[in-house]
Amino acid sequence: MIAIIVAATAGVISGWIFGEDMLAFSFAGDIFLELLKALAIPLIVFSMISGIASLKDIRKLGSLGASTVSYYLVTTGIAVFIGLVFVNIIKPGMGFEAIALDTIPEKVQQKTEYSLIDVIAGIFSANLFMILIIFSLICGIVLSIINKKAQKVIMAINYFHELTMKILHWFLWIAPLGIFAVVAARLGKAGGGEAFYAELIKVGKYSLTVILALIFHAVIIMPMILRFLAKINPVEYFKQILPALSTAFATASSSATLPVTIESVSENKDISEQVSSFVLPLGATINMDGTALYEAVAAIFIAQVYGIDLSFSQQIMIFLTANLAAIGAAGIPEAGLVTMVIVLRSVNLPLEGIGLLLSVDWFLDRWRTSVNVWGDAVGAAVLSKFNMGSKNKT
Ligand code: ASP
Repeated sequence: MIAIIVAATAGVISGWIFGEDMLAFSFAGDIFLELLKALAIPLIVFSMISGIASLKDIRKLGSLGASTVSYYLVTTGIAVFIGLVFVNIIKPGMGFEAIALDTIPEKVQQKTEYSLIDVIAGIFSANLFMILIIFSLICGIVLSIINKKAQKVIMAINYFHELTMKILHWFLWIAPLGIFAVVAARLGKAGGGEAFYAELIKVGKYSLTVILALIFHAVIIMPMILRFLAKINPVEYFKQILPALSTAFATASSSATLPVTIESVSENKDISEQVSSFVLPLGATINMDGTALYEAVAAIFIAQVYGIDLSFSQQIMIFLTANLAAIGAAGIPEAGLVTMVIVLRSVNLPLEGIGLLLSVDWFLDRWRTSVNVWGDAVGAAVLSKFNMGSKNKT
């Protein structure tokens, strides 16, 4: 944990000072990300199949699924609400001098229309995780039904699960190097500390609104949920999850962070692996509190900049679509920027406004991704408590 934090800090300092020179490290960062993503595949498959196959009563899976989805929807809703409150109070877009923006940024040009069908299709197509989750679910259910005959297969899968966890454990020893490379190279790409700072202060009030609201959700709301619903000490748990949060901050991808999230959550012996093996992969795909909050703040910021007054019902519309846009966003860097089209379109805000957010989005993405991962970890604790009561390791 300490090594990861030191590496992230060293990455920031070197990227800040040496700027573009640090791009030399980007190859190491890319390798690190690819390895993480590769590890996530066997982890999802083996941990989920082994968790589900070992459920004594397969009917429990239905209630686990329903409670997971409901919990995710409620907490994401709370996050959006917090974003709306902060942006309406701070009003970062008021008096903002926008240089005439008349082009839709390239990043969102390919997808300027989003329907509900697109969101649902987006969750599945080109989203390996969702496919793996469904595949593992089906395998787990089948194995649990034919339980006796499949004992050997279940045992083999349990061994493979242990094996992947072991590899992951070893891999985490080199994670600090990867994190250093990713952070230093990204700051280098932004031109180093001074160039980045100059960009940041241009939209300083907006960035501050996003960050403050995210911090409020992460350090006030989530700990309350942990304390009262999961009956877990939030400070202790936060420390356990810190490696995953630093990885999320470094990589800006909740999917790539998933292996570290699984490892960090497994450190807490009170959390059932059966539950977390299901809740975490699903969370990395659809539960994004940070992204949802950010979508709402960004949309209202754009409205404020363009001097568009939003009615109460339009803000409700933003509330609903921000939830949807977060569900539809993949756990990869800056996915939220693209799905923001859903929110802006719903209340006829100009897509050109996304151009205002581009320069700092990579940075804010790190904050929201960390909150996304924190939300998944808190979810694992709460859902474990409700579905298993107490410790129930596989
Ligand atoms: N980068 C975020 C994640 O992976 C998604 C986003 O908000 O862009 O969780």
